[in-house]
Amino acid sequence: MTAFRPECPICQGTRIRRIFYLECGKIDRSRLYSKVRLNVCSRCGHGFNGITPREIRALNMYYCRDYARENLCLPKKMAPSLGKKGSYVFQNYDRALSILLPYLNFQSKILDVGCGTGNLIHYLVRKGYDQAVGVDMSAIYVDEAQKKGVPVRRGKAEELPFDNQMFDAVIMEQVLEHVINPARAFKEARRVLKNNGILFVGVPDAARYGDIRFFDFYWLLIREHIQHFDIHHLNALAGYGGFELLQNQRNEHVLLNGKMSMPNLSAIYRSGRCCGLSRLVCKNDLAFRFEKYLAHESGCLSQKREKIKKLEKSGRPVCVWGIGREFLYLYESAGLKNCKITALIDANFHKQKFSKINGMPVAPPSILRTADEDSVLLITATAYVEDIKRAIRNYDFNGKIMTL
Ligand SMILES: [Zn+2]
Repeated sequence: MTAFRPECPICQGTRIRRIFYLECGKIDRSRLYSKVRLNVCSRCGHGFNGITPREIRALNMYYCRDYARENLCLPKKMAPSLGKKGSYVFQNYDRALSILLPYLNFQSKILDVGCGTGNLIHYLVRKGYDQAVGVDMSAIYVDEAQKKGVPVRRGKAEELPFDNQMFDAVIMEQVLEHVINPARAFKEARRVLKNNGILFVGVPDAARYGDIRFFDFYWLLIREHIQHFDIHHLNALAGYGGFELLQNQRNEHVLLNGKMSMPNLSAIYRSGRCCGLSRLVCKNDLAFRFEKYLAHESGCLSQKREKIKKLEKSGRPVCVWGIGREFLYLYESAGLKNCKITALIDANFHKQKFSKINGMPVAPPSILRTADEDSVLLITATAYVEDIKRAIRNYDFNGKIMTL
């Protein structure tokens, strides 16, 4: 068997430098890969995760099953939905559409790629753009969207289930960073767009990962993000796919119920002629920024390791609330798995039903009522610390509450 050699998803270069490796931990039976291997292409400078073909297959299964189910099982308060005006989902739509809408009219045929349950389409229709349809790879999301009456088909960005030149506009908002072959996704968008059609793209801005801090390595802990674009690579790839840049914007994408924001790039392109990839010029800039970011985050990891070491030495029983990305990272990379963990708590019903860590099931918060007097409750869901502290009052928990 030959060893797997990663190839640059943008320029197909094979001289790849691995600049970082991180164990992120894994929920038992989860199909989401547990190791981040951050690569930079020596030829074009693009940053991407070096996931193996086997991990790619598992990731596709993860999207089709776990991802949709988990998102649909969030407690109502935390679930991203259209909800009330002013919700963080609206903020993101307003920001994206303020850039896009000047290029549309009410007759525009619009395709939302990676549309999930069709919230953005619903939003567009309410604004009067009723010729909007969607595509998503998860049958669970497609079913959910169809129940709401949103016209959605099942398919992938790299293989759109539509005829040539059907649309006036294609939206790929927070999609391309998830895609294994983004060059192919641009070509597909080009194919289904009419001449002079408009493509809207929104992706995390990898050049600014260090500018908005939330939790150590957070932008890498979102392991669904395979590609780490900066503005230069995004534009070069669009040019290669047959698009001409009309407008670029650096902004922020609101996440986690409005508790935090992610550095983001939005771009508007017009379909035109393909050009070569020779315009790629930024060989070292992104790698340099990555290394600076990684050095800072590594310092934060060391501090957390020390705190967790003390907790381990105390021998006190530890309940952990928030079985998500931060927990898995702390468990695997900061030594939390060496502590005397007596309960894993999460309010997500899907996790309570299906998730186990090393055989230990995830319990509802009410398990706190049975916690020992000398227990420590470690809150690992960083965005929800205040909500969790309030909720703890319902469970007569008298132990120590700790955050990192
Ligand atoms: Zn490359």
